[in-house]
Amino acid sequence: MSDSYERLIAKLKRAHTLGTVAGLLGWDEQVNLPADSADQRAEQLALLSELQHAAASDAEIGELLGKLEGGANSRTADEAVVVRAARRDYDRVTKLPAEFVAEKARLSSVAYHAWAGAKAKSDFAAYAPYLEKHLALAKREAAYLGWGDRPYDYAIDKHDPGMTALKITALFTELKAGLVPLVRAVAASPIKARPDIFKGFPVEAQREFLREATERLGFNYRRGRIDVSLHPFCEGAGADIRMTTRFDANNPLDSLFSSIHETGHGLYEQGLPLGLQGTPLGQNAGMGVHESQSRLWENQVSRSRAFWTFFEPRFREKFPAQLAAVSSDDLYFAVNEVAPTLIRVDSDEVHYNLHILLRFELEQRLFRGDLAVADLPAAWNALSQELLGLTPVSDKTGVLQDVHWSSGAFGYFPSYCLGNMIAAQLWFTVFKTLPGLEADFARGDFSRLLSWLRKNIHEQGRRYDTLALVEHVTGEELMPKYLLRYLQERYAPLYLK
Ligand code: ZN
Repeated sequence: MSDSYERLIAKLKRAHTLGTVAGLLGWDEQVNLPADSADQRAEQLALLSELQHAAASDAEIGELLGKLEGGANSRTADEAVVVRAARRDYDRVTKLPAEFVAEKARLSSVAYHAWAGAKAKSDFAAYAPYLEKHLALAKREAAYLGWGDRPYDYAIDKHDPGMTALKITALFTELKAGLVPLVRAVAASPIKARPDIFKGFPVEAQREFLREATERLGFNYRRGRIDVSLHPFCEGAGADIRMTTRFDANNPLDSLFSSIHETGHGLYEQGLPLGLQGTPLGQNAGMGVHESQSRLWENQVSRSRAFWTFFEPRFREKFPAQLAAVSSDDLYFAVNEVAPTLIRVDSDEVHYNLHILLRFELEQRLFRGDLAVADLPAAWNALSQELLGLTPVSDKTGVLQDVHWSSGAFGYFPSYCLGNMIAAQLWFTVFKTLPGLEADFARGDFSRLLSWLRKNIHEQGRRYDTLALVEHVTGEELMPKYLLRYLQERYAPLYLK
């Protein structure tokens, strides 16, 4: 290892550590902040963001990268990964003019409030000018990075390295062809989950149960914690992972499954090599892979019969009176309830991907210039009817439902669906590789699955781009057929008997 390499690592770690401090303050803002302390926190975060930007764009990093790139032959494979990923990050930090970064930050702040206000009043026109500005900035940003002719690909690549709109289109087209008939068949089924079986589930008992479940899945509470916030999220890195959840006495499954979802994110972060924290070898591979980890634990694992074989008696122990008249089948149906909804975040996993197909289609049209922002609500509603069979009655439940675009986060939505596809493909691979896994789950033992994910996904850091990682781990390129097969095998026995 050369002096230049060691010096580079030290510089990267410094920028990373500043980022973790900002992350912690951001977590605290959403979990603990007193009502009148927001201004002070904004100042603290602005200062940290400035320091972090300065650390990440340090000219010495550029010089070190230049030297290390020159000596390609003397580098180990790991060093080559670090240099390549660090170059990608460094270019993205330094090629954007400071005034552009400030302009985007300012716009995101006002656009967020404009979005929240427009959503409350279901008034898209009030938000449209901000969305137009964000689109223009996204195109300018792509041009600064040398992607001026493919701005939407740049937006996608930011979240999932190596992905393009063309590759996603091929995957989504095949997925849609298999998914739409399944969704229609399940929706037409006369078999329905029993409504309203969850009433009056005390929050304290919910908290105890989800702590037991997430701990058994493998989350290390000596290096992380879970608290309450308005919207669940997972923040942090290395030895300190902060997850959040929310509680509703009449919807204990929402809290449980969103906690398990965040646990999947947390397990990934806890599984990244701690000693390499702050370097690309200790960082996650991108949004699609991250989402595959949360979805795999949330859906494939925790909605399975085997999971509930172990946990049902424990769940009943916490809520004996509430569940007295609820049969095992009722409970399992409730866990796997399928019902179309207009709202993406409330969607079951059978419908979920259709919500993403809709957003992907509209983002492409916006970037191509085929669709004017003013025409977005109508286009949204038409696609919603076509894909989900539902037309929003107001923009609040349609085009204004998601926060993402208000911060200019285009190209982010496809990651959710990629994550679902990756999760399903990993699921079939791990079952082939580790016989008897279901019996493990039924005994409450998830350690073999977690070890497999640790070795094959978590410990890889950023060695591979999204698709290359999938191919490396599963021996095949990413294919929608595994998600279709998983959905068929899980939901057909329930709804298509
Ligand atoms: Zn997630």
